[in-house]
Amino acid sequence: MTKVWSDIDWSQVGQEAVRDLQQLLQIDTTNPPGRELAAAEFLADRLREDELEPEILLVEKERANLVVRLEGSENLAPLLISGHTDVVPAMGDWTYPPFGGVISDGFLWGRGAIDMKNMVIMCLWAMKLLSRVKKSLRRTVIFAAVADEEAGSRKGSHWLVDNHPDKIRAGSMLTEVGGFSLHMMGRRFYPIQVAEKGQATVEMKATGDAGHGSMPMTDNAIGRLAHAVSKLVRHNLPRHMTSTQEAFLRQLAENMPLGVKQVFSLLRTPLADQFLRLLPESQARPLRACLHNTASPTILKAGVKDNSIPSEATATLDCRTLPGQTIQDLLRELHDLVGRDVTFHVLHEQPPISMENHHTDLYQLMCDTLLRYDPEGVPLPQMLPGFTDAKAYSRLGMKCYGFAPLKLPKDVAFTSLFHGVDERIPVDGFQWGLRVFADVVASYAGIHTK
Ligand SMILES: [Zn+2]
Repeated sequence: MTKVWSDIDWSQVGQEAVRDLQQLLQIDTTNPPGRELAAAEFLADRLREDELEPEILLVEKERANLVVRLEGSENLAPLLISGHTDVVPAMGDWTYPPFGGVISDGFLWGRGAIDMKNMVIMCLWAMKLLSRVKKSLRRTVIFAAVADEEAGSRKGSHWLVDNHPDKIRAGSMLTEVGGFSLHMMGRRFYPIQVAEKGQATVEMKATGDAGHGSMPMTDNAIGRLAHAVSKLVRHNLPRHMTSTQEAFLRQLAENMPLGVKQVFSLLRTPLADQFLRLLPESQARPLRACLHNTASPTILKAGVKDNSIPSEATATLDCRTLPGQTIQDLLRELHDLVGRDVTFHVLHEQPPISMENHHTDLYQLMCDTLLRYDPEGVPLPQMLPGFTDAKAYSRLGMKCYGFAPLKLPKDVAFTSLFHGVDERIPVDGFQWGLRVFADVVASYAGIHTK
């Protein structure tokens, strides 16, 4: 039985963890409806095998969160590690069944392999291994496996924060999205998430005279709305440089090959958007999203009858705000771009998250550990254009990071796997990530890992 960290048989742990991930992928937790209770029960069984005492907190029928903790011997701010157990629906034509947990060509295939049952299993194994060496644990470590992230976390992390804050209160927290390898210009980068954009659902409305379709009119709500929508998709909102993005772009440029260094420095200047047009769109999109507040039209509604001109037309906008920007800033920018012919109404809002100073001991530990296991890698801070459970945990004042380490082959782009058809994870890259993750958690908890 393992009593010290250096005794861990990583090949054995890696094999068991892959089997666990296969089994977790076979539990269909598509949200909606979620049904995360089955996943929580599976994790609880595996935790109990290592003398841990997980608590399953039922939110409603078949929907549950799991919390488990290991008490440290010193009065240090606890570390929370958290993963969501729900997944988005698996649509489209898959090579292997999305809930089959099939291993083929060195990959484990399935919905949730990347987002984010992989990290849930890393958290499970970090707890199992810590429990085996718990006598030397100095810092308390808590693991929360939460429901409902893919539908806004109301029955998951936000529910925990509202109903059981004392079970999860911590100084720092690790969850998705970060720590994966990103290949650019022959270099391998490891972005660690230290900031994420805010999210707002905004309704854009145009009004006009109602009338008979046989007699067209220029004052047409649909025409007004279409004009505004067209402006929104053709133009960027103003550019803003945040401290995270500045650090990300600077470190990216510094580590580029000589010839392209200069060109990549342009991303920190007003010429950024022109430069981005020269990059492949798959690389340009996330970079562009982190330089602007954004508004994507996602739902259009107007009219109920083919011969009646409606008096109003609406577009739902999925808006994302940069750290430092408020919803009022965003609405002002939207009006400046599309004019005053439409009105905006905020339906829902979650503010952005950013650490003023991300250079903490934990951040440094993540960088050092990544470099220990991949000396040629380049860790750097990043902002996520989307959102994670960090939105909920930051309400309790935790420092939130996205760190689910994963080594990806050159020809597989992380962003193409997220929510995509044929979501899959390289088995060796996952086992590599598990070791990096467990080492970070154990070291931060005061255990000698080297
Ligand atoms: Zn996710």
